[in-house]
Amino acid sequence: MKNQKKPPKCPLCSGTLEKGKTTFTVDFGSGVVVIRNVSATICSQCGMEWIDDDVSGKVEKIVKDAKNKHSVVEVLSLSA
Ligand SMILES: [Zn+2]
Repeated sequence: MKNQKKPPKCPLCSGTLEKGKTTFTVDFGSGVVVIRNVSATICSQCGMEWIDDDVSGKVEKIVKDAKNKHSVVEVLSLSA
């Protein structure tokens, strides 16, 4: 069996997925975290975004941090 790599397709609209950057906002109830320059896979057709696994770990940590600090609004930037 050959394991051929197909270009990724959007599960919603079958549009082409492209690597890009997005701004990710997390509302954790008592505050909001805005994270810029988050690498994500973005559908060129419907604009749906999926953030990468390694990034979602970072995002979780940032949100946890903001909660601990009782931040109301936290804006930061991730570099790739
Ligand atoms: Zn799509």
